[in-house]
Amino acid sequence: MANIKERTFIAIKPDGVQRGLVGDIIKRFEQRGYKLVAMKMVHADTKMLEEHYKDLAGKPFYAGLVKYMNSGPIVAMVWEGLQAVSTGRKLLGATNPLDSAPGTIRGDFCIQTGRNICHGSDAVDSAEREIALWFKKEELVQWDHHSAPWIY
Ligand code: ADP
Ligand code: MG
Repeated sequence: MANIKERTFIAIKPDGVQRGLVGDIIKRFEQRGYKLVAMKMVHADTKMLEEHYKDLAGKPFYAGLVKYMNSGPIVAMVWEGLQAVSTGRKLLGATNPLDSAPGTIRGDFCIQTGRNICHGSDAVDSAEREIALWFKKEELVQWDHHSAPWIY
């Protein structure tokens, strides 16, 4: 099957952690059938966050975004499975939570673009870049459900 090994970088932003939504967000990815291959809690420094969001440098909200992301710890994760990048974005919902459908993470748990509780890579190449930025190779854990090949 194609794309089984696609990986995406998902992060629970400081407000998601502060609001106690870590378990709910992880649950959405687990119950959809994605496999957790890396996870850590990290209070990212400004340099790291500027690198992560470098494509948005110059946007009027960039400085505020970096400050928001630096306001507390983040739960950084890598999820793997069929079309993990695009389906991960669907699970998160739209950037502006007011445009996110009910049933999505943002659509169920938040209302402000500037406090939208989660991050997900927007393309396979940005996922690769973000995973390499947030994780060392040895932090990506290879594991299998040997008895059930339909579980990724
Ligand atoms: P996404 O996180 O959905 O990929 P973007 O990459 O466009 O969205 O933006 C990154 C993050 O910057 C958003 O998730 C949100 O936290 C913040 N952001 C985007 N647009 C705005 C805005 N107009 N005002 C405040 N914050 C914003
Ligand atoms: Mg983005």
